[in-house]
Amino acid sequence: MYRIKRDQIVYEMSALNKPVLHVEEGATVIFETCDCFEDQIKSADTQFEALDWNRINPATGPVYVENAEPGDVLEVNIKQIKIAEQGVMLTGPQLGMLGDRLTQNVIRQIPIRNNKAVYNDRVEIPLKPMIGVIGTAPMGDAVACGTPGEHGGNMDCTIIGEGTILYLPVNVPGALLAMGDLHAVMGDGEVSVCGLEVSGEVTVTISVIKDRQLPVPFAKTASSVYVISSAKTLDEAVLNATRKLVGLLTTLTNHRVNDYDAVNLLSLTGNLQICQVVDPLKTVRFELKSAYLDQLGITI
Ligand code: CA
Ligand code: ZN
Repeated sequence: MYRIKRDQIVYEMSALNKPVLHVEEGATVIFETCDCFEDQIKSADTQFEALDWNRINPATGPVYVENAEPGDVLEVNIKQIKIAEQGVMLTGPQLGMLGDRLTQNVIRQIPIRNNKAVYNDRVEIPLKPMIGVIGTAPMGDAVACGTPGEHGGNMDCTIIGEGTILYLPVNVPGALLAMGDLHAVMGDGEVSVCGLEVSGEVTVTISVIKDRQLPVPFAKTASSVYVISSAKTLDEAVLNATRKLVGLLTTLTNHRVNDYDAVNLLSLTGNLQICQVVDPLKTVRFELKSAYLDQLGITI
């Protein structure tokens, strides 16, 4: 079992990042993570102007995974997410979907008690911890941790939580996996610009898949599979996600399932869902229940 401290962070995903840890395939690693403000908000009095915006969206890592070669798929099995007892939110002018109406920046601390976020004296929200930022080194230029993409990154996808297996591309030797930006809970869309931002720690096991191409980023839960896609617009992200999932169904059946079969099946049973609409690229996911993969004879 390996552990990476929360001060071992990067602000961009890059082939040039120096690994903080080398692990063998199948290793279990605990990533300690700061919140997306690098834990700068210590009290309710913290002023927005006092925040150092160069220290936003840190990701812990990266980890070099032995035997991960470009073209492979990295399998990240999310075993456990532990979160702090208090979370923080921030919104204001130019931020999120209401940024044109908000006149000042407001920071809000929200206590977490008995597995619930205590929103105010009337509203309590059951927790659903998730990882906002998780990715490998991208192909080509570095990508800021606040931006999502084909390499993963700031996907802010609510299903990336405990029990989910996430598949990411290996673009460089060792893959260079990093993660951060935990949310105690978040709604699909993330409309204010943030989830309930918390520090914490994530336990994952990491494997390398050599013999199977998957439309990454790709996720599997107990009941469903998801392709995840990020693009400048939601329209574009939806188009990409649909093409990727159709491609998976046709390729893995050697075209026994053709484009008509695949798109019709998705039209009847697939669920397009929004991950987030507030980051530099928008992110969607397309869910297909695993039961249909089973019926088609597809194993992932
Ligand atoms: Ca985020
Ligand atoms: Zn976040």
